[in-house]
Amino acid sequence: METNTNRIIEVHDLTVSYNKKPALWNVDFDLPEGKIIGIIGPNGAGKSTLLKSIMGLLPMASGYIKIYGKDLEAIRKRVSYVPQRGSVDWDFPASVREVVMMGLYQQQKWFRGASQLDQQKVDQALEKVGMLPFAHRHISQLSGGQQQRVFLARAMAQQADLYLMDEPFAGVDASTESSILELLSTMRNEGKTIIVVHHDLQTAKDYFDHIVLLNTRLIAAGPVEEVFTPQHLQDAYGGKLTLLHEVGELLQKENIPTREG
Ligand code: ADP
Ligand code: MG
Repeated sequence: METNTNRIIEVHDLTVSYNKKPALWNVDFDLPEGKIIGIIGPNGAGKSTLLKSIMGLLPMASGYIKIYGKDLEAIRKRVSYVPQRGSVDWDFPASVREVVMMGLYQQQKWFRGASQLDQQKVDQALEKVGMLPFAHRHISQLSGGQQQRVFLARAMAQQADLYLMDEPFAGVDASTESSILELLSTMRNEGKTIIVVHHDLQTAKDYFDHIVLLNTRLIAAGPVEEVFTPQHLQDAYGGKLTLLHEVGELLQKENIPTREG
């Protein structure tokens, strides 16, 4: 039950548009602290737009977002953002260690060089994701799964309380997927809150404690069993026949109760 958890994010009446076309329309929800939260919805639903809005990277047409009851600026150091892997130039001349280190410099007002403590934070984070042996490797030489783990190390080195991750499981192999999931569980058990954009319905039910189901508008937000109802999934994915077929199979397999049943 989530009755005793604190609210970490409040999204209130949020509308975000690109060239006057809304990507998020009047979206309104709260998220609990200390959970792994999935942002789920079809392609173009506004999932990345939602994370970018929380990070203050996009102008809002209306509404507001509070984190720990405050504006982002006041608590920015407690928040870490992992963008979609494909949105980054991996030919940028930097080593694995440098990329993780750069995550720390973002938090500083000016460049002061890497302290002993920073080096330690970086090495510990690389160790946790199993990338320490690759610390000197150029980032362009990594596989997709390795790049994703470097991103994760970069976020973890920042030692934030809230993590926003855009599709961390996209394009990674099965063993990386399960090791990332394990890391996220460990972080959650240490009291961190992790918000993950994810597009695989089959695994979403197992991976997340809490789900925000989105398709430009908010379809539903809450504990997994409340959100993953046939009606909500139909509302989010309606018309996408192959997907609906998969959803039907999923519901059958998992014995999720239907409204009719
Ligand atoms: P998702 O991450 O759920 O796939 P996005 O948040 O990336 O969806 O996009 C939501 C909608 O906004 C889509 O229709 C997309 O085409 C549009 N969009 C996203 N980024 C931009 C942009 N920079 N300029 C114009 N339209 C955009
Ligand atoms: Mg996206």
